[in-house]
Formats: sequence, C-alpha cells, structure tokens
Amino acid sequence: MPSNKDELNEVFKCTQCGQCCKGYGGTFVNDDDILKIAKYLNITPQNVLVDYCQTSGGKPLLSIGENGYCIFWNKVCKIHPVKPRMCRTWPYIESVLIDSSNWHVMGSCCPGIREDAPYERIRAIIQDTLDRYL
Ligand code: SF4
Ligand code: SF4
Repeated sequence: MPSNKDELNEVFKCTQCGQCCKGYGGTFVNDDDILKIAKYLNITPQNVLVDYCQTSGGKPLLSIGENGYCIFWNKVCKIHPVKPRMCRTWPYIESVLIDSSNWHVMGSCCPGIREDAPYERIRAIIQDTLDRYL
C-alpha cells in the first residue's frame, strides 16, 4: 500500500508548471469549496460565486482571468490552502480507476504524470490516496 511521498512520486511528481491552472478547464466548485474559499478570503460565499465563478450546466466553476489562467493563479495558486477538491485530488481521480487511457490523456497536458508507470501501481496509489484523504 502506498503510504508516503516517495511512493506517490512513483507515478506523479508536480513540476509546478501551472499548466493545469490554464484555460477553460472546468474547475467545478462544490458548496464546501465555496465556503472554504470565502472564509480564506474573508468574503461571503455569494461574493465567491459572483466575483470568482461562472456557471456551466448550472454548476459553478472557477472563472478564467485575463491571462488565460484560473482566476486564482498568479505564478502560484493564491488559494492553495483551500483550493477546490478537483485541484487537491489531481491527478488521483476516479476516472483513471475505470479506464487507464485517462491517465495518458492527463499525461499529455501534465508533465508531472509518469505515463510509463505500471497501471496496477497507478491504480493502487490512486485508490489508496482517495481512501485516505477524501
Ligand atoms: S500540470 Fe501537472 S505538473 Fe504542471 S502544475 Fe499542474 S499538476 Fe503540476
Ligand atoms: S484554484 Fe488554484 S490550483 Fe485550482 S485551478 Fe485555480 S490556481 Fe490552479
């Protein structure tokens, strides 16, 4: 069972390139995300929705700034301690457990992903990470 950072690094090690924070990628936020961001910024949840979100399919997602990146990106994530669940879980997401090709699709835009790692190892680490931290 993966239990430490070295083991996680077998399949993924973030290079801090910021690529995943760029473009209209659809970082959806749930109620818990919105509350945490509001508290961190000392504003109301409604302000988070109005000032930092747009909607897609009736659901709120983070807006894109003029620089083409997520509205909270400025060389680093400005809300790192409370970043949304979607950002915290990347790249340990359920869809990779279902289809290994998703790992490679993600790898094409995320240089931190090790596409050469064995799929069984990737699966084990993702499952363990989801069980532990989510
Ligand atoms: S694209 Fe991947 S390597 Fe780059 S910042 Fe995002 S998670 Fe890290
Ligand atoms: S909230 Fe932070 S980590 Fe998530 S997309 Fe925006 S800048 Fe990137």
